[in-house]
Amino acid sequence: MKIVDIKTYPLCAMAKRPTYYSQDWIDRRMSLLVEILTDEGISGWGEGFCSGQHPKILQAMVEHAFRERLIGKNPFDNDVIYETLYNTTRAYGQGGVATIAISAIDVALWDIKGKALGLPIYQLLGGTYRKQVTPYASGPTRAPGEVYPQKAVEQALSYVEKGFRGIKFKTGFGVKEDVALIHAVREAVGPEIRLMVDANCAYDVAKAKRILLDAQGDDLYWFEEPISPEHRSGYAELKNLTKTYLAAGECEYSKIHYKDWLEARALDVLQPDLCVMGGFTEGKKVLALAQAYMVQVVPHMWGTGVGLAAGLQFLANIPPMPLALFPDEPMMEYDLSDHPFRDDLIGWAVRYEDGVIKIPDGPGLGVQVDRSVVERLLIRD
Ligand code: CA
Repeated sequence: MKIVDIKTYPLCAMAKRPTYYSQDWIDRRMSLLVEILTDEGISGWGEGFCSGQHPKILQAMVEHAFRERLIGKNPFDNDVIYETLYNTTRAYGQGGVATIAISAIDVALWDIKGKALGLPIYQLLGGTYRKQVTPYASGPTRAPGEVYPQKAVEQALSYVEKGFRGIKFKTGFGVKEDVALIHAVREAVGPEIRLMVDANCAYDVAKAKRILLDAQGDDLYWFEEPISPEHRSGYAELKNLTKTYLAAGECEYSKIHYKDWLEARALDVLQPDLCVMGGFTEGKKVLALAQAYMVQVVPHMWGTGVGLAAGLQFLANIPPMPLALFPDEPMMEYDLSDHPFRDDLIGWAVRYEDGVIKIPDGPGLGVQVDRSVVERLLIRD
């Protein structure tokens, strides 16, 4: 089997109304989809995650840095392809845009492999530990006019009503406001719900410490990205300050860099994003590292339906750390923010029902990309 063409689709859709989190306003959702075509008529899909960045930046990497190196290659040589592409990006910093673009390509290669063999990707990764996952409600971004913590309490109660047993809120709006939110939500949902917060790097170590200590009585399960990932030693300072776990990893790339986090023992929860950090090929190696260091992995999942489907295949193969008769299973991040094309892009194939999400078991990613949605959202200029 040989790769004969690579198609790139930068997508964009405007949000119904602008929202914000601790770092920026969000008035649109964007993504780069990659379709790799083979001489056997099988094609695979991948996604490069765009967190507010224009997808044409990733498109340029795929088209101008990687296309020529892919034509004629066998998709089953994914390991060789990954290492070769990664090696060519040294001058780009071997992270960021370069690795996100490789991720999109790698996910598409695994989709091809699965389709060619008639097997879900998790089978090619070595099997699934679970048929379904328990999602946690990953809170929406904020809209102007909403009053906090009242709005958060309202949202938390509605998630509990829908059957969620874990909830994560966007924070990073000031120490006092964040602590008030944690306290109000804990009081409203009771002691049984896993409560998490994500500051998206809004703080320094001193302020993050204050939040951890002031919220000590509220049984916060994890504090995600309290400070920027560039400041790894700051994470090590915050870890074990309280019983709250420290989580990060969505802005990290490749086994080389995850190894540094693990060696520094700076995190309790590692959050690699398959469509950012290098795809399945590299994800499998990061999983092996995390297992060796006994650090739990809960992937970051915030893209379109293609990224969601890829994340579910990855989740299937994540071993509980450690394995046991009644293990602490990895949760699934379930993005509840507005996304105009996350679900219709894959025909609503990933559904939350009765507190769980079933892992698609069809060939490859197990979902079909709706080309009419791609056509409708394509950035053409
Ligand atoms: Ca996050």
